Amino acid sequence: MAAVLETRPVRGVPPGGAFLIQEVGATPVTAPESFTEEQRMYYRTASKFAREQVLPKADRLEKKDFPLLKELLRQAGEMGFLMIDIPEAYGGLGLDKTTSLLVAEAKSIYGTWSVTFGGHTGIGTLPIVWFGSPEQKAKYLPKLATGEWVAAYALTETGSGSDALGARTKAVLSPDGKYYLLNGSKQFITNAAFADVFIVFAKVDGEKFTGFIVEKGTFGFTVGPEEHKMGLRGSSTCPLIFEDAKVPAGNLLGEVGKGHKIAFNILNVGRLKLGSGVLGGMKLVTEMALRYAQDRKQFQTPIFKFGLVREKLARMATAIHATESMAYRTSGMIDARLSTEDRSAPDYDAKTIAAIEEYAVEASIMKVFATEALSMIVDEAVQIHGGYGYIEEFPVERAYRDSRINRIFEGTNEINRLLITGMLLKRTVKGQLALFDFAQSVDEELTHRNLPRPKVSDELEKEAQASEHIKRLAVYATKVAAEAFGPEIEKQQQIMGWISDMVMDAYATDSMVARTRQYSKGKLDPVRVAMVRQYTTDAFAHSFAAARKALCAASKGSDLSAHLSKIEALQLFTPYNGVELTETIVQAVEAAGGYPDFTLP
Ligand SMILES: Cc1cc2nc3c(=O)[nH]c(=O)nc-3n(C[C@H](O)[C@H](O)[C@H](O)COP(=O)(O)OP(=O)(O)OC[C@H]3O[C@@H](n4cnc5c(N)ncnc54)[C@H](O)[C@@H]3O)c2cc1C
Repeated sequence: MAAVLETRPVRGVPPGGAFLIQEVGATPVTAPESFTEEQRMYYRTASKFAREQVLPKADRLEKKDFPLLKELLRQAGEMGFLMIDIPEAYGGLGLDKTTSLLVAEAKSIYGTWSVTFGGHTGIGTLPIVWFGSPEQKAKYLPKLATGEWVAAYALTETGSGSDALGARTKAVLSPDGKYYLLNGSKQFITNAAFADVFIVFAKVDGEKFTGFIVEKGTFGFTVGPEEHKMGLRGSSTCPLIFEDAKVPAGNLLGEVGKGHKIAFNILNVGRLKLGSGVLGGMKLVTEMALRYAQDRKQFQTPIFKFGLVREKLARMATAIHATESMAYRTSGMIDARLSTEDRSAPDYDAKTIAAIEEYAVEASIMKVFATEALSMIVDEAVQIHGGYGYIEEFPVERAYRDSRINRIFEGTNEINRLLITGMLLKRTVKGQLALFDFAQSVDEELTHRNLPRPKVSDELEKEAQASEHIKRLAVYATKVAAEAFGPEIEKQQQIMGWISDMVMDAYATDSMVARTRQYSKGKLDPVRVAMVRQYTTDAFAHSFAAARKALCAASKGSDLSAHLSKIEALQLFTPYNGVELTETIVQAVEAAGGYPDFTLP
């Protein structure tokens, strides 16, 4: 089993959370502009497969045509899309995380396909890749790589969703030591109706949280009836029932009592993948909304000509740009950390887990930011469709329903908001991030009104400065709240949530400015500049309001007045003409027929 290693600093690769305390552009960022030809090829072929082979069959799939869904998975397996994360030694390709995220983006154009594919390749298969014994890997991975077998992941129970470790399913070793007898049930398990292999968590002797590999047909194990869902109607979601289910002792995954390591590490990568794993859907829905707006006439005018519709399309494109800039920056840091490692070394899996864990804050940011951006995009797309957006015949109706679950699974957005601030504080206490040193210097800057001047003078100078100010708002509020509540800050959920919102805005603005500067040749690209300006204007306003709320909840009287007056020094950002920004962006959306993809075909 892979032991989790401490990550070592890698030259030129920032540690997790460092964006909050480093200046914009402190280290180069990975972005679609830097993808290799091989990465682009995987994206192109996975995208073509999803658009040409899967999406046209959506009507049949929505009626729960599971044989068809399984056949599509098998075809995806034949093309190599299911084996990106599986090592070559076990019939896979063992590719980098950026390629894995690109394939996740490509498959996300249709919710049912996205969740079925993700349930199999991600949460279903990765526990065996990372924590399986050589025998388990040899038995299961080659079949999962080709789609001959389908995988599922069973953590949730009726009584334990967010509180995953509160599971009640129990495992007891049989007297002859040959089997674990599992009793209990699992709830809402993706792919359950047709999966061959289930990763199941149960407590050995009712206490030690442990992972197991359970095969279809195991004596005492049954799959319950399908749930009737709001969306993802073509996917399978069922309960699992274990009644003295006889699981061979050799199917214990990892170590007894170490199931939490499997569960949390799989959640980490799931969150990261969800960041790119909604981008394809965002882009497709933007295309649909644009096409509809161009075709639909009211007042003898295509509704696309109306300013309020144009603003929606511009904001949709900007949200995609922000999500994309963060997602591939994060996968790039993980890949950079692993780039010098030997992929065939026995501890490579442990190093992969450690590299992903290093960016757990960024992964939670991706999960929350991307899924909320998706919600905004599908909502505005329905609005652009007017009443037709509410009618089943229009694919945007399905996209709206399908999108809703993303804010709930892989850890709800509330849980992930708590994790963002909580993990930053833990990294600080462990000495992995110099957050409090930075907070101290910010306090001095604010006290003496001595804020650093922008180092780079260009069209994004103000946005870079706004990003630095958002970081200062976040760390200053964290410092004040940590001083006020000490370790009890974890119980101040609303403050933790406001801080997370600022941290997300810091990562988004930092990533957008850095990407635009790094990848523009000569003069900065005006469309990107407009997107960065549009996003940063809003982000600064949110963050300033969030900082005020956090300070008001963490202090009072003259202390509060002093804090509020200090952060006034950060209020430097003068907004742009929003109509002009919209026009620059929406004209690019029109020319591109959707999100103006700067790099991907
Ligand atoms: C379509 C679908 C597919 C799924 N697939 C899988 C799968 O394949 N495998 C699997 O194991 N699970 C799966 N799930 C389950 C999913 O992961 C859970 O629904 C999710 O983790 C939330 O758990 P819950 O539904 O019990 O909600 P709860 O945990 O009861 O949460 C309810 C509300 O309370 C909030 N809340 C809970 N605790 C806190 C807290 N400490 N602080 C603040 N707010 C809190 C939550 O954010 C949420 O808003 C799936 C669910 C669905 C609907």
